[in-house]
Amino acid sequence: MKIALVGIGKIAVDQHVPAIAESPDWDLAATASRQGRVEGVESHTDIADMLAARPDVPVVSICVPPVPRYAVAEAALKAGRHVMLEKPPGATLAEVHALQALAAERGLTLFATWHSRMALGVPEAKRWLADKAVRKVRITWREDVRKWHPGQDWIFKPGGMGVFDPGINALSILTEILPEPVHLISARLEFPRNRDTPIAAELQFSGNVSAEFDWRQEGPQTWNIDIETDAGPLSLRMGGNQLFIGGERMESAETIAGEYRALYARMADLVRGGRSDVDLAPMVHVADAMTLGRRVLTDPFEF
Ligand code: NAP
Repeated sequence: MKIALVGIGKIAVDQHVPAIAESPDWDLAATASRQGRVEGVESHTDIADMLAARPDVPVVSICVPPVPRYAVAEAALKAGRHVMLEKPPGATLAEVHALQALAAERGLTLFATWHSRMALGVPEAKRWLADKAVRKVRITWREDVRKWHPGQDWIFKPGGMGVFDPGINALSILTEILPEPVHLISARLEFPRNRDTPIAAELQFSGNVSAEFDWRQEGPQTWNIDIETDAGPLSLRMGGNQLFIGGERMESAETIAGEYRALYARMADLVRGGRSDVDLAPMVHVADAMTLGRRVLTDPFEF
């Protein structure tokens, strides 16, 4: 199937373009991006022009930041295209509900992707936990914003989500693998004095679940979920790509490349089956943290 990519920036180049190139399902037919290009692929600088020029491309995958994403997705759905959304699926919950309604009304597929749910250890962690009593969960997500989001000012602007941009990946795994849902009880958010979104957050949920997100970690990066159960410990490391049960390593991958291959395979299944997949549970926790969280000011941040 032909597919178009919108927003040729860091994640499109790092993951989407290689995943599409390796996929037996997809042929990258066009891009729309003000400056970004993919060598050898027809490029447009505007989504409306691309949609008008390429009625033969039935699917659009959107990699722009969350705030401009709604307008792009709405235009693609109104032009009769199936749509795949990078995470987080929008800047607000209501705009994603609106996209869901539009896709359903027009009989189109909408896939709100959560790449971390495709990490190698996640399906087995979910299967193993299904009949266990979870006693405690500790999420530690500490990374270097300058390494993963070099110069991306949008991430510190309203709707950019700040440290919840990576933190929502942990929440996407949490909401996938826990046998029972949890809800936020309290949060402490650290905002740089000169920015509109948090650089660090501590969250406490029901069910003895807690999370620490911090964007100021240099050196080794930490993306861990440690779970205590009635049958012993389970740990996910490397953002879900390494799984340990009872201290024994069960699954292991060193990169997230497999996550994007799996997302594109799932999109192909959804389009062929005429189905959508939109789960907003991770984003509900972020919205709740922004609603309930205590705000603390900290040192100014510059890239
Ligand atoms: P990015 O490189 O800053 O943005 C992607 C592209 O979107 C930009 O290069 C830009 O291309 C276009 N764009 C359109 N409107 C824009 C606007 N108002 N502000 C800024 N750029 C705009 O970001 P990214 O890292 O690829 O992230 C995009 C999405 O992927 C985010 O939702 C992020 O959460 C998700 N993601 C990122 C990573 C990561 O490691 N960076 C990992 C997984 C998922 P033109 O200038 O050519 O239009």
